[in-house]
Amino acid sequence: MTQHLKVDMIVCDAHGVCAELVPEVVSLDEWGYPVVSSAPVPATAVKHARKAVKLCPRLALRLEDRG
Ligand code: SF4
Repeated sequence: MTQHLKVDMIVCDAHGVCAELVPEVVSLDEWGYPVVSSAPVPATAVKHARKAVKLCPRLALRLEDRG
């Protein structure tokens, strides 16, 4: 089972919390919006990814399980 971070770009407001917490899979574009890798979240970063989901000010993040 792998975990993938997803962003709802409709509600994202470019606060950048996700890129700070999970730089392994999130970078920011020139406007500060997240660019999320399609790669699975590394096991060592899953805890931070969960934290990012909780702390996103717009609740725009979710973690998806893929088997
Ligand atoms: S923390 Fe949430 S609102 Fe901020 S850039 Fe990431 S997804 Fe968007």
